[in-house]
Amino acid sequence: MHYVILDMEWDSAYHKKYKRFVNQILQIGAVKLDEKFNIVDIFDVTIKSSISKRVSGRFTQLTGITKEMMLGGISLSDAVEQYNNWLGDDTVTITWSNSDLYTIAENEKYLLDGKRFKLDKYLDLQVFIQGELRLLGHECKSQIALGTAAELLGITTDNYDLHTAKDDSLLCAALLKKHYNGAAFDNLIKDTNNPEFYKRLYFKPHFISRINDERIDKNTHVFYCEKCENKMKRATKWRYHNNWFNANFVCPDCGKKFVCRVSYKQTFDKLIVKRRIMEPKVKQQEGIEDAVQPVPTTV
Ligand SMILES: [Zn+2]
Repeated sequence: MHYVILDMEWDSAYHKKYKRFVNQILQIGAVKLDEKFNIVDIFDVTIKSSISKRVSGRFTQLTGITKEMMLGGISLSDAVEQYNNWLGDDTVTITWSNSDLYTIAENEKYLLDGKRFKLDKYLDLQVFIQGELRLLGHECKSQIALGTAAELLGITTDNYDLHTAKDDSLLCAALLKKHYNGAAFDNLIKDTNNPEFYKRLYFKPHFISRINDERIDKNTHVFYCEKCENKMKRATKWRYHNNWFNANFVCPDCGKKFVCRVSYKQTFDKLIVKRRIMEPKVKQQEGIEDAVQPVPTTV
């Protein structure tokens, strides 16, 4: 088994036939590594667009790929064929974040006419490195940039031409060689031939907005009085606002009122339920108003 770190640069261009913008791949860079993460080969091609004669200024600025370089490239179809032949068998393909996979799918759909990238086993290096950073006590909630992660892990990026496909791949290789952690790494290797892989990739987590949705367990609508722990009665309808259902509740024993809220987030693996119970705000304000109102004088 060996590893290939794949990186691509793409630019948005208008596709007349499909009447939409497509993130066309204009450069493929990849580094082949042996089982000890030593570099054994490098793949690097620039691609000539089939739908545009220009590249955006932003793209050139970021990647250094000029219009002339793009026009001197090979076709995407040839590039994919060369890449697939170069990849070989029994390979784990690694990218920095799974955004490359969406772009591959988009290019296969709109630009490749049936030809596909060879992609069997796959690992998202960003997920792995974020896990290692957390183990080292770094906080990283959102998706971290490759350069930032490298600096945090003590790899200087001065010698790399970041945002060129080849150098981004080389930097990923350096990160991996330094921070490989067997069990955590192997757990993240996915089989892209398993239909669940793409179901998961395209699944969009979302909040449930209908209280009668069949995925909701009705027991999560039940709230208990914080004072005497008795089951409360709902006094209003559920109102949905900013991903939360809100309703007023009242305790039948002590008469105390509460505002109760519940939210349901559907992820690919599970339904995440969050519940809150709060003192009603409105009543407190009324109390303050009552207190500051001057006592009417009788004549
Ligand atoms: Zn009570």
